[in-house]
Amino acid sequence: MPSPIAGPEIERLIDALAKLPGLGPRSARRAVLTLIKKKDTVMEPLSAALNEALEKAKICSICGNIDTVDPCALCTDPRRDPGALCVVEDVADLWALERAVAHKGRYHVLGGTLSALDGIRPEDLHIDELVDRAAKDEVTEVILATNATVEGQTTAHYITDRLTNCNVKISRLAHGVPVGGELDYLDDGTLTAAMKSRRPF
Ligand SMILES: [Zn+2]
Repeated sequence: MPSPIAGPEIERLIDALAKLPGLGPRSARRAVLTLIKKKDTVMEPLSAALNEALEKAKICSICGNIDTVDPCALCTDPRRDPGALCVVEDVADLWALERAVAHKGRYHVLGGTLSALDGIRPEDLHIDELVDRAAKDEVTEVILATNATVEGQTTAHYITDRLTNCNVKISRLAHGVPVGGELDYLDDGTLTAAMKSRRPF
């Protein structure tokens, strides 16, 4: 640990920021310098936004999304198809799909993946809630959008087993050649998956 340079209040802010993903101690220090130099234009609005988010951010009790209302805006939007449930590992995945406008239905956030190594069991994830939701008449399709990792695929298989008695169509995101991708640059796993999930042309 380097010895503190600034006062304890400033060091505390650096430590807090360094805990954020993508920000190490160095970039946290740089960020804090900017904050202090631009107190009025950067720090003040950030502080106000943080306070407001702290007070208002909630986890949706239906799907697990993060919003300022519960149920979240996606769960109550009448223009979205309540019949198609897209299952994701994390809110970040939900937001990524929303950014891409890739899904017009509803979501279900699992809160992680099954992992024997990390001791994450089905009861640690929101799988029971998913089964309850899928059993409702309005739900006709469950789209498994877990990551293409071993844990993500294991979780998708487990969920498929749990949903056998629900009258829903189960689909999975296709894994394959990325848009704009050149075959020569793809790793073997991606190429094999793309070949396996080929479709009629
Ligand atoms: Zn929701």
